[in-house]
Amino acid sequence: MKVVLATNNPGKIREISEILKPHGIDVVSLQDYPGLAEVEEDGDTFKDNAVKKALAACEHTGLVALADDSGLEVDYLGGAPGVHSSRFAGREKDDAANNQKLLELLSGVPEEKRTARFRCVVAIVDREGWVYTAEGTCEGIIATEPRGKGGFGYDPLFYLPEYGKTFAELGPEIKNRISHRARALAGALDILKELERVNDGE
Ligand code: IMP
Repeated sequence: MKVVLATNNPGKIREISEILKPHGIDVVSLQDYPGLAEVEEDGDTFKDNAVKKALAACEHTGLVALADDSGLEVDYLGGAPGVHSSRFAGREKDDAANNQKLLELLSGVPEEKRTARFRCVVAIVDREGWVYTAEGTCEGIIATEPRGKGGFGYDPLFYLPEYGKTFAELGPEIKNRISHRARALAGALDILKELERVNDGE
């Protein structure tokens, strides 16, 4: 089955392809189907945004489409930054400013109240326009200072007590096994396999 990833982000294309290709899924991306204007991520939930992106990619290409949306939810901040994760401090994707703002808002807050999770929702739209979603989360604690050089976004502040390390210190091999995105993609893979089975008329 051919699946278009509703993204132009090379890092995401690589990461998602690595997970789906070994299962016989023919993965292409919007880079192979240019001309779709960037979809505004203005939904109230990760699911809204992922579905919106997948529907646009399906309409544009006529293929089964897959999109993801993700972010960080901090309990002390009532779930913020949530869908605003990439522009928490104002500018889009300014990781240093986002991390700085998070540290300031949690200044003096004790460890037991610094609980947080990354959440990812993957949406799949099939060629008849049916929508399916899968979700993954990863629980952690917001550290009091950044640690580690790997990863991106909030990784240097996202501390996993069971590993004694932040996501930025863990390295891609472990992160890609336990992350919110890996867990959501495992669910997405089950959905794609089921679609393939039904389309084969079994
Ligand atoms: P998106 O799913 O690409 O829209 O991600 C939104 C934002 O959430 C990113 O810009 C990051 O700030 C944050 N984020 C999502 N996943 C991760 C992750 O695995 N590590 C660190 N930050 C993340």
